[in-house]
Amino acid sequence: MKAVQVVGYHTGLQLTEIPEPTIEGPLDVIVRIGGAGVCRTDLHILEGQWEAKSGVALPYTIGHENAGWVHAVGDAVTNVAVGDKVILHPLITCGLCRACRSGDDVHCQASKFPGIDVDGGYAEYLRTTARSVVRIDDSLEPADVAALADAGLTAYHAVAKVARTTRPGDVCVVIGAGGLGHIGIQVLKAISAVTVVVIDRNPDAVDLAVKIGADHGIVADGRHIDRVLDLTGGHGAEAVVDFVGEGGATREGIAMLRRAGNYYVVGYGENIDVPTIDVISTEINFIGNLVGSYNDLQELMTLAAQGKVTLHTTTYPLANFQQALDDLDAGRVRGRAILVP
Ligand SMILES: [Zn+2]
Ligand SMILES: [Zn+2]
Repeated sequence: MKAVQVVGYHTGLQLTEIPEPTIEGPLDVIVRIGGAGVCRTDLHILEGQWEAKSGVALPYTIGHENAGWVHAVGDAVTNVAVGDKVILHPLITCGLCRACRSGDDVHCQASKFPGIDVDGGYAEYLRTTARSVVRIDDSLEPADVAALADAGLTAYHAVAKVARTTRPGDVCVVIGAGGLGHIGIQVLKAISAVTVVVIDRNPDAVDLAVKIGADHGIVADGRHIDRVLDLTGGHGAEAVVDFVGEGGATREGIAMLRRAGNYYVVGYGENIDVPTIDVISTEINFIGNLVGSYNDLQELMTLAAQGKVTLHTTTYPLANFQQALDDLDAGRVRGRAILVP
């Protein structure tokens, strides 16, 4: 089959012919890829940022945002059948460790990560296991939802926490209305009754945020902290979801947070610099977010099937992977780039 592989760092990917994956264990599932999302992490992999962390042996097939059709299943697989449309939870998890048993797939103590440390989805077929496949509604197409496997799941995981800890009328500030923020806003409007205030430097992104449901859109123009304080009677928001995490976003975000408010870190890059006396005297909380659980993904797919979360995508044939990566790198992709074998 055709597969796009990492053959070295600081060099291009290569389209090659490799053997199709086969069933090796009773719970294995082979998926025929219908869409593989092209992610900024793929660029970082090629830059060598993951080399030491993943320890993956080269060459290997890249691509960690995958959806398609079940092609073959091991003897013990009962939850899906050949032909089912599925999206893949990004991790292959053991199901036996404490984290897995509490439904916390991302912190599995014996996980693999297709596209990062084993073969991924820039290919015609991919091997995963029964624990990782989420059946999707017939109305959804794999190429339309593939990017929800990672970007969408991460956004869902964070804002679902907001939904569980807020009340109608509470205010949630969303910093950053890019790819993840865009999904986070739609999910917040679908599953919570918070007032959603979106902040972005880009006026077009703010307009789009309001179009998809944000209650208030604010362009970050230097007066945005005051505007949030005005909207909240001077108190600040109960929740701030920070999809940026760099360029001063955290300092501004903390200034918009109410006493006892929750600060959700999703985007990353800078240090959070806040005096500990402020943390204790205001009882503010900082909450990290890493991808999401299997159940998060299933819930997100329910919203997608209901038409409450949609993702703008640009598709490329698998052979045009380089174009897709170049477009992503140059900021030319509208929505998410998806490779279709
Ligand atoms: Zn990704
Ligand atoms: Zn586990």
